[in-house]
Amino acid sequence: MKLDSGIIMLDVPSNVPGMFIHPTVMWDDDNMVLVDAGYSGQSNVIRDAFINEGIHFESINKIIITHQDLDHFGGLPEILESSTHKIEVLAHEADKPYIQGEKHLVRLNSNFLNTMPEDRKKMVKQMFENFLPVDVDTTLADNQELPYCGGITVIHTPGHTPGHLSLYHQTSKTLIVGDELNKMDGILMGPRKEILEEGDYETAMESLKKLLKFDVKNIVTYHGGLYTNKPHKSIENLIK
Ligand SMILES: [Zn+2]
Repeated sequence: MKLDSGIIMLDVPSNVPGMFIHPTVMWDDDNMVLVDAGYSGQSNVIRDAFINEGIHFESINKIIITHQDLDHFGGLPEILESSTHKIEVLAHEADKPYIQGEKHLVRLNSNFLNTMPEDRKKMVKQMFENFLPVDVDTTLADNQELPYCGGITVIHTPGHTPGHLSLYHQTSKTLIVGDELNKMDGILMGPRKEILEEGDYETAMESLKKLLKFDVKNIVTYHGGLYTNKPHKSIENLIK
């Protein structure tokens, strides 16, 4: 779905039937930036989503990973491998060692696995143990301004993971929030408490306050898609 000139939210079928994930694409004359890369094995469905939107998958030259969960970067190795040119990988410094396989992914030993039925738990645990690590080329920090695609502000929103990032695309007034916010049945929801460890949920709620300083027209949640109904007020209501 086109949100404005130079920004599209993709609708990509998830590996859970009937569910979708929503990577975002931003571009200018020199760059095609993908935000989040889906699960392992999803590069073809992401490619199809590009074709559906009339944009060129082969033009991607930067991929920003909002955080270390495998539904966000599991598909990254195959995209990098299939590209004929170097794609720069960007992530927050605090999640870099996890994405690079130097630390166990935070979700491996957490409440997250306990939210699943036994058969699925085993499969997901294996996935978390056997993922392909990826080198992060560039680390991002809070408040950093990326000088492309009309200007993108980096917002460090820790809690869901230590290096969770949100991004603000300035020209379209779009907040890309990864899993910091969710949308369910049309309603904007905060971070998912049931999958987080003690203290992390509180950190994620604290991070929400950082989103209030932006003039927001669109919120893109990775799992629920686009939210546009009084975005600022809706975030404020979640904090109260
Ligand atoms: Zn996610």
